[in-house]
Amino acid sequence: MYLYNSATRKKELFVPNHPDIVKMYTCGPTVYHFAHIGNLRSYIMEDVLEKFLRWEGYPVKRVMNITDVGHLASDADTGEDKMLKGARREHKTVMEIAKFYTDAFFADCAKLNIKTPDVVEPATACIGEYIKIITRLLDTGYAYQAGGNIYFDTSKLERYYVFNDHEEEDLAVGVRDSVEEDRNKRSKADFVLWFTKSKFEDQALKWDSPWGVGYPGWHIECSGISMKHLGEDLDIHCGGIDNAFPHHTNEIAQSEAYLGHKWCNFWMHVHHLNTADGKMSKSKGEFLTVSLLEEKGYDPLVYRFFCLQSHYRKALVFSWENLDNAAGAYQKLIGKIAALDPAGGAADQQVLAEYREKFGKAVGNDLNTSMGVTALYDALKAKTNDATKLALLDSFDQVLSLSLLGKAAAKRAELAAQAASASGQGDIVITGEGDPEIDALVLRRAQAKKAKDFAEADRIRDELKQRGVEVTDTKQGASWRRV
Ligand code: AMP
Ligand code: ZN
Repeated sequence: MYLYNSATRKKELFVPNHPDIVKMYTCGPTVYHFAHIGNLRSYIMEDVLEKFLRWEGYPVKRVMNITDVGHLASDADTGEDKMLKGARREHKTVMEIAKFYTDAFFADCAKLNIKTPDVVEPATACIGEYIKIITRLLDTGYAYQAGGNIYFDTSKLERYYVFNDHEEEDLAVGVRDSVEEDRNKRSKADFVLWFTKSKFEDQALKWDSPWGVGYPGWHIECSGISMKHLGEDLDIHCGGIDNAFPHHTNEIAQSEAYLGHKWCNFWMHVHHLNTADGKMSKSKGEFLTVSLLEEKGYDPLVYRFFCLQSHYRKALVFSWENLDNAAGAYQKLIGKIAALDPAGGAADQQVLAEYREKFGKAVGNDLNTSMGVTALYDALKAKTNDATKLALLDSFDQVLSLSLLGKAAAKRAELAAQAASASGQGDIVITGEGDPEIDALVLRRAQAKKAKDFAEADRIRDELKQRGVEVTDTKQGASWRRV
């Protein structure tokens, strides 16, 4: 696969460091509030990347942090801890806030078919890792102590600004608007590794360290958690584009200074979801969430479909009109798939290979998901039997995760029920184990029997048998169970 690497600003052929594993790290949520659908755009695209790598046959190990300490109100090291602000807002403890919003985050992810990474690690669980890294950075002169805090000394590096498409002066945190200069820093770009002195003395979470009781900076957590679970090198590090600077720049600085060698090969950054008024932000107060989409009657997977139709390296503008268009297209797509015959014979291996290659080329070209969706429509239009089409859709959906076959089966069951009641056969009662696709088949068999089409009824019974389903006729219709 080809992937754009933000670190080299080039699309490069992806080659993993090790043949037996792709090591992938994702910056996780700061759990002081609900994730907005902009955050979730990043997680959807990262999910597609992981699933595509697996689809291509790579074994992936993916790690994600949960930021439950250290992320201050500014991405520079100033302001109050976001977690503490959240706790105060809701009159809860920081740990209660962390638990509540971590659970809410994964509930949203589940609704969007975002797979939970192999390892999810809260920042507060790895204090020992940060202390180990900071100790070595102090020993080797990459860090210094000033005013009670430990700072990374960016002047010790040959190259600090990895992700700077801007002037160095503009990026230096000290000169940004609204960021107060920290007089302990030797240089404006230096950043905090460990705080013991903060203006905010009520910092709730503190740990003992060789430098006094305190808490870690935000950036050190991703280096520490990544190294704990993935070792001394990484294949791909992901995050939203706002993480590129200073967060990822600082991660590279401290990790490579600590390790003494290159750390991560590929940096993948998802661009922002914006509204007509600009970037979506949690700190703005009111923002768009998955629950809000549901309240307004949207299936969350419509939002996933909407995201897949744009390229992750372009800003995406959200509007209700755009979402309505995606909803219409998604329903139409499900309708088309529902019209395919799920008992349509054997798949054509040659056609499968041909269309799988098309899909792989599309998505393998820097995660061009909209071309992947086009490949999916092409498969639907292919001159082949329904079994081949369904096998292709099933395969592509392992990457796109739009629940295509499940939704189509439910649609088929719904249509069959409607047809049954319309033709006066609505009195047929099917009982089973709660699988709409099997319910629909059992209903079709019962209808065939009622219409004295015994050949069709027997054919369906055989198909059900092949699927391990046993049907028993009842007075009202039929009941089924898996055997
Ligand atoms: P946070 O919970 O604020 O730490 O952010 C979680 C992830 O969402 C990070 O990878 C951010 O870079 C990303 N992110 C933040 N805002 C947006 C946005 N408007 N669109 C897309 N991704 C975003
Ligand atoms: Zn991070």
